[in-house]
Amino acid sequence: MKITDVEAILLRGEGGYGVGSGGHEATDNGDWQLLVRVGTDEGIEGWSDVETLASAALAVIAGEGMGLLGFRTLRQILIGQDPLDVDRLWDEMYVGSAYYGRRGIAMHCISAIDNCLWSIRAQATGLSIAQLLGGQRHERVMAYASTLFRSTPQGMADAARMYMEMGFRAVKFGWGVFGQDPGLDRELVAAARETLGPDRHLMVDPGWYPAGWSRPGPMRSRRDAVRLCQWLGDYDVTWIEDFIHPESFGEYAAIRAESPVPIAAGEQLATHWEFERFITMGCADVIQPDLSRCGGLTVARRVADIASRHNVDIVPHSWLTHLLTTFSLQFIATLPRAPFVEFNVSQSDLTRGVAKADFKLEEDGTILIPKTTSGGVEVDLDFVRARRVAPDVRTAL
Ligand SMILES: [Mg+2]
Repeated sequence: MKITDVEAILLRGEGGYGVGSGGHEATDNGDWQLLVRVGTDEGIEGWSDVETLASAALAVIAGEGMGLLGFRTLRQILIGQDPLDVDRLWDEMYVGSAYYGRRGIAMHCISAIDNCLWSIRAQATGLSIAQLLGGQRHERVMAYASTLFRSTPQGMADAARMYMEMGFRAVKFGWGVFGQDPGLDRELVAAARETLGPDRHLMVDPGWYPAGWSRPGPMRSRRDAVRLCQWLGDYDVTWIEDFIHPESFGEYAAIRAESPVPIAAGEQLATHWEFERFITMGCADVIQPDLSRCGGLTVARRVADIASRHNVDIVPHSWLTHLLTTFSLQFIATLPRAPFVEFNVSQSDLTRGVAKADFKLEEDGTILIPKTTSGGVEVDLDFVRARRVAPDVRTAL
């Protein structure tokens, strides 16, 4: 089999990003969505979503490459290659883009393409991705509703109740107003815990930007970060997430050593080399590789090996369309311990419309992990055609 096409597909939506003061649902960043399609000469094709600066990603994937190694576009590297050689192609993409890439947009694009290649591999072999990764260990996994902080205690209580009524046994609130007023922060978390009761999971994602991302301010000091962990312990949070500057591995390790609550992080990290440093330095209890950023399934399975050796959990960061949820579910199915899957309840019309999925929240708050080659997801081609802009990268640029 040969790769005949690597296409970057840009969709345009009208959604904003944010949440009001009430309990109603937050909306995600539904203004743009980038998809990647890898086509083959046998008619099998892989699809993936990717969250990145879409206009630049168009150029990285399918713009005009240079002859020099390290400055190639990903399409240039892949056309004519056997899509089943996932490890070899990952290395070729990494080396071929190394001077402008290695992290950031290039790694986001490599991640999406790598996920497409795993999907092609599944379809070509008739196996699920979980089987290809080594075998499915879990039939189902508990889903947690992933959403933004509401700005009032009443809004938090209303939102928590809404997720409970939907069947969720775990909810993560993140970002929003959190960090602007320590007194209000505590009231918001208290309202969520009181509504969820003692037996449901509550996670907190305070954000690592300077206090309130729209206004400048100092990052939390080590003392303030430890104090935050300590008071969150009063509300029995399942974890505190991604609240330290992502380059500060030493801070993560130091604060984790004093934190009464587990620390989750890693959505900003990429490549197995970076995760190895993060894990071996003892930075977190829960490692959160995002399969559309970290380097794709090829990197994620290496990270899983490292995490397993160091006996820390993995819960992939997964906050995009159903395509990413599907890749995450297939990966989670293979982990020795699979505590949760992140479920993006804040999808916009744009992200929700990209793909139809078989999986749904069951009454017990879990999701049954599909065993098919597609992972239970199907791209809605009519929707993609209707929302697509600038189909030719050369026109777009
Ligand atoms: Mg997060």
